[in-house]
Amino acid sequence: MSLFSKLRPDMLAKTVRDVDYGAVYASGIRGIIFDIDNTLVAHGMPADGEVKSFLDGLSALGFGICLISNNKESRAEPFASFCGTKCLCRAGKPRRSAFYRAMDLLGTGPSETLFVGDQLLTDVLGANRAGLTTCMVIPVDRRSERGDIPMFLKRFLEYGVLRRRKRFDERA
Ligand SMILES: [Mg+2]
Repeated sequence: MSLFSKLRPDMLAKTVRDVDYGAVYASGIRGIIFDIDNTLVAHGMPADGEVKSFLDGLSALGFGICLISNNKESRAEPFASFCGTKCLCRAGKPRRSAFYRAMDLLGTGPSETLFVGDQLLTDVLGANRAGLTTCMVIPVDRRSERGDIPMFLKRFLEYGVLRRRKRFDERA
């Protein structure tokens, strides 16, 4: 698998709520790993009843849920404990080990695990490298990235890759 193909998410969705989780379950997926910041909530925002009930709904469908963040314990752990989910912090995405550890917590293998995140170069690349099904969502709050130069460069690169991918797909 080329680097180029590892930068391609299997699914694209506007928000985490726009994924057809019934179809995901029917495809054999039993565990879902979510990025937290800008995927479930705007960057740095605490968990609330809305996100908890969304995740509770997925548990009720039969999915195991693990939240994964490159951020520290103080960010990820209170969030996950409020939501009643498993959690992995200081994940070091896009390293594969983060995704293997999260799957260990869920008791699922790569073919049974969906990853949902907002970034191409950490989230999607890492999860594809670990062999998971990947879904990329639009960041919840782009405004929180204003003035963030490294993030601006990352988004610029993502945009370029996605455009190139689109042209490639149209030619195929
Ligand atoms: Mg994120």
